[in-house]
Amino acid sequence: MDSANLMKAIRWHPPSYDQRLEDIPTPMLQHPDDVIVKVALAGLCGSDLHIYRGTDKPMAIHTSGHEFVGTVVELGSNYKHSSVNDTKTEGRPSLYDTLKVGDEVVSAFTSNCGECRLCKQGITCRCPFGLLFGSPRLEGGQAQYVRVPFGGATLFPTSALKSEGKSEIAAHSLLLLADILPTGVYAAIQALGHPKLATPLTGAPWPYSLPGLTTTGAVPRTSAETNDDVLHFAVVGLGPVGMCACVALLDQLTTRYPTRKWKIVAIDPIESRRRTLETMYSTIGADGKGTGQGELVVRGIEEAKTTVSEWTNGEGCCAVLEVVGNASALNLSYDLVRPFGVITSVGVHPAKPVGFEGEELYNKNVSLDFGRCPARAMIEVAAVLLAKRQDIFGSAPGGSNSLIEAIEGFKQGPEVVKAIYEKFDKGLVGKIAFDPWA
Ligand SMILES: [Zn+2]
Ligand SMILES: [Zn+2]
Repeated sequence: MDSANLMKAIRWHPPSYDQRLEDIPTPMLQHPDDVIVKVALAGLCGSDLHIYRGTDKPMAIHTSGHEFVGTVVELGSNYKHSSVNDTKTEGRPSLYDTLKVGDEVVSAFTSNCGECRLCKQGITCRCPFGLLFGSPRLEGGQAQYVRVPFGGATLFPTSALKSEGKSEIAAHSLLLLADILPTGVYAAIQALGHPKLATPLTGAPWPYSLPGLTTTGAVPRTSAETNDDVLHFAVVGLGPVGMCACVALLDQLTTRYPTRKWKIVAIDPIESRRRTLETMYSTIGADGKGTGQGELVVRGIEEAKTTVSEWTNGEGCCAVLEVVGNASALNLSYDLVRPFGVITSVGVHPAKPVGFEGEELYNKNVSLDFGRCPARAMIEVAAVLLAKRQDIFGSAPGGSNSLIEAIEGFKQGPEVVKAIYEKFDKGLVGKIAFDPWA
């Protein structure tokens, strides 16, 4: 690749609301672990708006976007198949051995080294060497090319999905693996895996619901009663991640707890989002939402409170998935969660205090679970759901049940790109994928 070439990229300019489609130098390898990827599609994501709207901190001009899929065009010298390979790959993530120019890949939305203690434990979101794509410290994917640090750990080869006989996976749907589908699945499994859910899920009273406890056995345990017969969940926020969280929760409940009864209320103030989820829910086959033992309803905020109160006699949901990332969404989650319940929050929260007091948390025994999805670790799980639920995720962009509203090309010019950001910021369009070559 000629490094003197220029490429098109969407660049963030200070202080805010100033996205520019510009010609900048194509990225070059900077480290032997780097990979250069030719971008096929790049997502525009709700969390891009945090930077778009500006922050109090001064920030450097940079290429936007943390979601992308594409093709490997250049490998650093630490790859076995690099044209300049001069190093050993044993003991390193296997992709350093196998990745080749021409391979199709999706990147996690943060880079990660794959070899530190946290990465080896699957906590790839907090790798001390990891960076967020589309931030001042790492150029993003809304460009024709992108440099991927630690490519052997950060990238996931989508050819692996096709080689398992899943070639029916729609190409555009692979973009969902960069962020929103792993994050949605993460929200669901974090909630279901939380110790607070052991009693509702097993029916055994606390603490006997926890595995491995030794007790005196002096007093026979009683079985849990009441409406634990039905598991109640709320999902707050029906942007693309919230919709993925709903699909993931439905799938987890159906496959892991096939005999349990459950009810989910999915909540958003925006009617168009509620309609989209209702259409998606009606599209999902029985293998993804159970055969009658479960129910998902879609509600606005006030109706949701009434629904949960009626379902649970005022007690609340055993788990609330908060997929927005602001104080009012957390307050609603607090209102909806039952005593001894869990709020799993995957929204990107701003640098502001949250809206409730320690006393309120104490008085309700609420567990808070916060933070960024370890996307690279979760891609392997999310890819299974992506393949299974092509009835949803494979829908053509713009369809009534599609998570991607449109694919927009760079050739439409800077004014159109600017306008897309403006409309996305105002909620006038849903999730957009950019094709930097169209
Ligand atoms: Zn994203
Ligand atoms: Zn690491």
